[in-house]
This record gives sequence, C-alpha cells and structure tokens, in this order.
Amino acid sequence: MDSPRIIIVGAGAAGLLAAGRAAELVREAGREREVEVVLLERMRQVGRKIRISGKGRCNLSNTLPANEFIKHFNRSGRFLHQTFSRFFTEDLLELLNNLDLPTVVERGGRIFPADGSAVAVAEILEAWARGLGVRVITGAHVRGLDCSHGRVRGLHYDLFSEHGKAGSGGDCGATKLAATAILLATGGKSYPTTGSTGDGHFEAENLGHKIIRTRPSLVPLKAEGAPPSGVSDLKLRNVGTTLRINGKTHSRHFGELHFTKTGLGGPVVLEISRVVVAALDGKKSPQPDLELAVDLKPALDVKKLDARLIRDLDSRDNATWGDLLAGLLPRELLPTAERICSLPLGKPCHQITGPERRVLRDWLKDWRFPITGFGGFPEAIVTAGGVDTKEVDPHSMESRLVPGLYIMGELLDVDADTGGFNLMAAFSTGWVGGEAAARSVLTTLES
Ligand SMILES: Cc1cc2nc3c(=O)[nH]c(=O)nc-3n(C[C@H](O)[C@H](O)[C@H](O)COP(=O)(O)OP(=O)(O)OC[C@H]3O[C@@H](n4cnc5c(N)ncnc54)[C@H](O)[C@@H]3O)c2cc1C
Repeated sequence: MDSPRIIIVGAGAAGLLAAGRAAELVREAGREREVEVVLLERMRQVGRKIRISGKGRCNLSNTLPANEFIKHFNRSGRFLHQTFSRFFTEDLLELLNNLDLPTVVERGGRIFPADGSAVAVAEILEAWARGLGVRVITGAHVRGLDCSHGRVRGLHYDLFSEHGKAGSGGDCGATKLAATAILLATGGKSYPTTGSTGDGHFEAENLGHKIIRTRPSLVPLKAEGAPPSGVSDLKLRNVGTTLRINGKTHSRHFGELHFTKTGLGGPVVLEISRVVVAALDGKKSPQPDLELAVDLKPALDVKKLDARLIRDLDSRDNATWGDLLAGLLPRELLPTAERICSLPLGKPCHQITGPERRVLRDWLKDWRFPITGFGGFPEAIVTAGGVDTKEVDPHSMESRLVPGLYIMGELLDVDADTGGFNLMAAFSTGWVGGEAAARSVLTTLES
C-alpha cells in the first residue's frame, strides 16, 4: 500500500490553513516520515486572492461574537456554528500573532494586519505551512479526482512550467498522485484571474454533490443614469443611500459610492448588492422594482439644506449658480446638475427662483437610480451558492457522500456581507477540515 497522503487542492485562505493544520498534527504525532501533506495550487503563487483582499489590506475577520457574526451570512451560514466553535476569530489572531503578524481593529469591528499588508498575510501563511512540512506545488492544475469503491483514491494534475506550458521539460506534464484524503479548497468563481474558476464545483458535482446555483455577490450594480454622462471613475465620500424595493424602503447605508465606467460600485453599493442580486436573480415575475436613492448631503435634513442654499444664494449675489455648486459638489457633477435641474450653470445666483432652488435641493437629497442589473463573476468579491452544506459534515468538513473527501472555503454554499466575514469562513472551514483529515489518517495508521 502507498504511504498515506493528504492532498489539499487550492492554496487560498482555506487551503493554506487546512494544509498547515494537517501538517502540524502529523508532526505532533511524529508521523511526518509516513504521512505526506501536499498543497497543489494552479497559479504560480499561493494566496492570490488574499493578496488583493481588502484593497490590499486584507480585512481578516470581525470582532463580532459568533452568533452575531453568523447573521451576516446567507441561510447556510448556520452550518458555520460548528466550525466557528472549533476555530474562530481569537484562534486566527493567536495564530497570526504567534507568526509575528499583529492585527488592529478598525471601524465596524473590522480586523486588519497592523502593517496593512495583505501580501504579508499570504507570505506568512505560506511560510508557516512550508515550515510545518507541507510540500507546496505551484503551477499544478488539478484536472480530476479518482474515486473508486466509494472513497477517494487520488487525483491527477497538469504541472505548468515557468513559461506556462504543460508537458515540457523537467517535472512538467500530467502527474498522478495517490491520496488517502483530498481536501477541495478551490474557492468560488469570482475574480477568476486569481485562479478560482469553479473547478471544485465541477469536481464535487461529478462525485454526486448538489451544487446550489452560483451567482455573483458583493458586486457592482447597473442602473439607469449611472454613470451620469461625462462621468467615470468618480468616488463620492460620505453619501447616504436608500434601497427601495417596489417603492418601500428596504435599507439605508452611509459611506462611499463609486460611479464606475459601467455603473455603481463602492462600499455602499456592495453592501446592498446581495439583496439586489437575490431579487433580480429570482424567478419572480414580474421582477421587483429596485431603486437606489442617493443623498449627496446626508448631514443636512431638507429644511437645513434649504436654509443653507438660501444663505449661499443671497451671499453670492454676483456669482453664478455654477460657482455656488462648485462649493457643494465635485466638479465632474456640475454638468449633471445643470442637466437634471434644467438650470444653466452661468445663471447668476440672484436670478435663481424659489422653485429652481427647490429642484436643486430635492436632487441633492434624493438622486434616484433605477437598478437594472448587476456585474458578473469577474468583478464580484464573492460567489453565492456552491456545494450544498447539507451534504458536508460541519464538524469535519468531510463529504457525507464520499469518504475521504473534504470540502471547504468559498466552494461551499456560504457567503456573507463585507466586513471580514468571508475570509474568516474560509480560514475556519480550512482549519477544521485540515484537522479532521489529519486525525482520520493518523487514526487509520494507529489501528
Ligand atoms: C477583490 C477582493 C477583495 C476581497 N476582500 C476581502 C476582505 O477584505 N475580507 C474578506 O473577508 N473577504 C474578502 N474577499 C473574499 C475572500 O477573499 C474570499 O472569500 C476567500 O479568499 C476565499 O478563500 P478560499 O480559500 O475559499 O478560495 P480562494 O482564495 O479563491 O482560493 C482557491 C484557490 O484554489 C486554486 N485552484 C482553483 N482551482 C484549482 C485547480 N483545479 N487546481 C489547483 N488549484 C486550483 C485557485 O488558484 C486559488 O488559489 C475579497 C475577494 C476579492 C475578490
């Protein structure tokens, strides 16, 4: 019989923790000569998504207690109760602190590395796993899992050379590896340039797993009138937003809004995008009316804003309306204001009538964008849907259908809001899966 081998497919947040934890237990048991832990990653670098997460600062987790934390997930988030009881935020921070990576807490309980470097997180986790004896093979694209007699047996992968070609030179080409346990940590389908293209969904489905339909989540939106003509890549800080569904207020947010080249983005938009995607993606007919109302002056209520406009118009008697607006709005929005309010920018302030002022006031407080759609996987922060959690044991991440197969990270049907929740789910399920796989293999050795 071949010596036992634990293979982890995918070196993202879940795969790195799974590999490191499995190797740690193997080492603690003094079995590192007998049990090999191999981490296969199709890209040439591990943790590509970690490196770009949190705009390069990596929002690692959140200070919320587990029961509040889980409220930020979809319905399947309940599955995480078990995983979080085994490895949660404090365990992650302890691990990182022991690896000389201190962290800080910011607004909303968001936890970041103190030096603000997402790259350092990926590098430190890779060094940790390697240091524990994990054999990391990059450029290794897993093409298929071998299962027979009801359990996993191994897998095959293409090894790519430095020049990106398979099958030429040295170690390159198609390779088969026997395995006692296979841990699928291939991520979702979003940002496919990081290596996550949905291979794991395909493999899991082939082995009989149900895949809850995948869709982009935490994604920019498309809306009528966005971006306004002549505007692209404009960030508006400190705006208020109201999402209305069929005319009823659904939620309000405050923060940064982006006019991208194709629509609406930025934190306040990502925050509502999960609701919007679920509403637009559903089979409901007719589809609900969705509208985002933007308040450009959230610090002033309508009355106070009106008083401020009256004061400004009076005190700038000789100035134009355009001059006044330049003090209120980014310059890029002036032509939009002119068009929407039907007021030439060159009109002197003293000629602005009461009704004209009120049109401006109402636009500043309630700029409406009917939402028409959402972006695709290439621009989505996470993937909603994935392997049905009912078919995975939350204590171990082992498949309930295929013994020896473990499924973790974003590949599972769990997705959450922004705020560090998604990475923590990947770290936690990875750790728990790595631990369970190692314990199972070690138990077999001892019996
Ligand atoms: C731009 C961006 C910013 C984000 N910021 C944050 C944030 O600040 N906080 C937060 O909580 N979440 C954030 N997220 C989400 C978070 O990064 C992911 O949910 C998390 O990294 C998923 O981890 P994972 O290990 O499950 O999958 P991934 O990180 O996607 O890793 C999967 C790995 O598997 C590899 N792989 C895939 N198929 C194969 C194959 N066939 N063979 C070999 N290898 C394969 C891939 O190359 C990849 O390296 C962000 C996401 C994006 C895109």
